[in-house]
Amino acid sequence: MSEKLLQGKTVLITGGTRGIGEAIVHECAAQGARVAFTYAGSTAKAQELETQLAQAGVQAISFQADAADFARAQEVADAVVEKFGTLDVLINNAGITRDNLLLRMGEDQWDEVLDKNLKSVFNYTKAVAKPMMKARTGSIINMSSVVGVNGNAGQANYAASKAGILGFTKSIAKELASRNIRCNAVAPGFIATEMTEQIPQAELAKWLENIPMKRAGTPQEVARLCTFLGSDWSAYITGQVILIDGGMS
Ligand code: NAP
Repeated sequence: MSEKLLQGKTVLITGGTRGIGEAIVHECAAQGARVAFTYAGSTAKAQELETQLAQAGVQAISFQADAADFARAQEVADAVVEKFGTLDVLINNAGITRDNLLLRMGEDQWDEVLDKNLKSVFNYTKAVAKPMMKARTGSIINMSSVVGVNGNAGQANYAASKAGILGFTKSIAKELASRNIRCNAVAPGFIATEMTEQIPQAELAKWLENIPMKRAGTPQEVARLCTFLGSDWSAYITGQVILIDGGMS
């Protein structure tokens, strides 16, 4: 392959300092993109990542920004366009879990998960829509989950947020297709990250037993799918939910 998949494109990734988001940052950079990423927690980790990318000759910038903050999303998108001149790909990756059975789930657990996982996707998609419409090109990739497709006991809040992403994705795909802006969702199964480290051992064994490939996926495998969906190699794919789950679904 002569040209890199994302050569000359600018990619914005929410939640880019750990897990799947960090792998997406690395993969997009390796495929020639200019990279902007957000994070909610430690600035030290973000700076370390920015330095690492700069040393590899990659143009990169990070923003401390709670993905649930509507006004901040617009500030971030504006700053990316200001710095790099374009904003070609948005990857809505930031997400959290606050698991509990329905009878024990507090209003705060419901609200927090819906805000950080679903409202965040609205925030950033709205923030990038204008520059993408002006450029008449764009690819938006939303991180859902197999739990959003199939449901999971103890994760009603998370499942609702990830299912909401699917309806949002399909609607935005229809709304923006005529402007050459695509919108797809990725639904990972069990991926080995800090998020899945929280799962108790017994439950973990059950999950692995139900995966035909008998292993967890890696963040890089998800990142490569996102890179493909961000690139022109997927130019005729929009409104889709792509499962990446080792055959689980
Ligand atoms: P993770 O290891 O916990 O990493 C989450 C990332 O999101 C971190 O970089 C974190 O930044 C950032 N983040 C969290 N809350 C944020 C907020 N409010 N604003 C901005 N950034 C925020 O999670 P992961 O496993 O990589 O998951 C990434 C995405 O994939 C999530 O949407 C998750 O639901 C989805 N997913 C994961 C799996 C899996 O098996 N791991 C399966 C299906 C779907 P800080 O470090 O700064 O907090």
